[in-house]
Formats: sequence, structure tokens, C-alpha cells
Amino acid sequence: MDRLEDELNPNRNKFIERTVPEDRAMKWGPDQMSIATACALARDYMFKNSSSPVSQLMDSITYQFQVCKRCNLQKRKWNVANYINLPVEAIKNTPQVTDLMGLLRRHYGTEDEDFKPDFICDKCKQRNTTYATDYICHYPDYLVINLSRFKGNLDGSKADKQIRFSETVDLTSLSPFDDHSVNGPEARIRQQTARFKYQVYAVVRHHGSSIRGGHYTTVARHLDLPRTYMNKPTAGAWHEYNDKQVRQLSPSEVTNISRDAAIIFLKREGTPNRPPFI
Ligand SMILES: [Zn+2]
Repeated sequence: MDRLEDELNPNRNKFIERTVPEDRAMKWGPDQMSIATACALARDYMFKNSSSPVSQLMDSITYQFQVCKRCNLQKRKWNVANYINLPVEAIKNTPQVTDLMGLLRRHYGTEDEDFKPDFICDKCKQRNTTYATDYICHYPDYLVINLSRFKGNLDGSKADKQIRFSETVDLTSLSPFDDHSVNGPEARIRQQTARFKYQVYAVVRHHGSSIRGGHYTTVARHLDLPRTYMNKPTAGAWHEYNDKQVRQLSPSEVTNISRDAAIIFLKREGTPNRPPFI
């Protein structure tokens, strides 16, 4: 995906920022400006040379707020990526079945506050005093969520949990803005106005118990075509793509598509079908 983005970027000869450098982020700190203004500046800074259709449609920006619980030093950080990585922890006491929103809230939004082990505070120089909260501060039209089931399992085994999700997912609560939208001069683009509701249109599934083996299939549906006509499934229904075999899924199989989900593809509601650059 990164190569495709690079090949399609007319500004590829210019340096593309994927993060805001610390000295610049210091000027956009909590003492200097509102989070809405800081996020708008971060977006402009990181997107200024990134004009490929891939980045325009798919890049999301995550924002991290760091605070030292000892001296109260506060910092802001931003990163841009064309997918969101979501670790599916193999922690013993987590339930075997969980839901996508619960997993997202564990990593993004106000319910998330991660202790940063071995992090040394710049001001008080103390270790193990910094906590961080992550948010999504730029929502793309097309969002890819990678359910990382193998990372951290050194033996290559799979975190074999069922991640349930519905066809419509509302990600608004993962934003850092109190009213979930950017007001004033920053409200320049549709993407930054809530709500951030998405439709799941494809899921890549991994069948197997280890990173060393198994089989990948994909289920997908065409969002713009009707699912049924005269009570019969049509091209808008969920289909499974399994090597050279394509078949429609039965209603009971549709409710089970979250089983073995590895990569989830979502399209934001209201996204125009023909982007302006085509
Ligand atoms: Zn400190």
C-alpha cells in the first residue's frame, strides 16, 4: 500500500512527513492552543506533500496526549497511517468473544489511558510516571482496520478471539474533540464533521491457528447495489471470494463473518462515489 501511495503521489520527490517532529509539536502544545486548532495544523503539515489518491482517501491521523503524573508535563503527538492497527491481545482474562468497538475503545478515545513503561519524563526525569491517551483526529473516507492477531505471540500462534461487529460502526467517540467535530476556521473539510459512521463492505479472513499456515478468504458486498430483488439475493449481497470460487453467503453465514476476521474495510457514510480528482 505504501508503494502504491508513493507511485501515485505527484509530490513524491518531496519529503513526506508521517509524524509531527517534537520541536514543532512543542509549539502546538496544550498551553498554546486548542486541540482542534493543533490537530488542524498537524493535518495540514503532514498532508502538504502527500497528494496521492490513496492518502487522500485512506490516510487517518492518530493523536496522542501524554501526561506525566508526577510533574504534570503535557505533550501532544501525531502520526499518519493508511490503516489502523488493532492488537488482539492474547491476555488470559479477556473474553473469547469481544466486539470491535470495545477493542477500539481500549486503544482510542477517552476510555483509553495507557501507562508508558520505562518512559522517562523530559521535565522531572522520572521513569514510569507517563500515561498516554490515543485518539483518531482525522477520519478518512475509506478506513482499513488490521486486527493484529499474531504480533506478540512469539511462537506464531494466533489470538483466536471472535471480534464481533455490526455492518454499521460509529467511530465518533474515538475523536479527541468534546463535541466530536471541528468548528470555526478548521471546519474546512467534510471529514472533520461528526458523526463518523462507517459501513463494513469487506473483510479478509484468516482460517488457521498459526501465522505459519492457514488460508485467506474475503467476504465483500457492493454498497451501492441492492441486496435483494424479488426476495432473491443480488450483486449487493455478501459474497465469499475463496480462491477461484465465488458464492453468496447465507443469512446465518453473514452473522458469522466476524469469525476469523483479519482485516476490516470500511467506507464512511456520505462518501461520494466519484472522488473529485478523477
Ligand atoms: Zn514529569
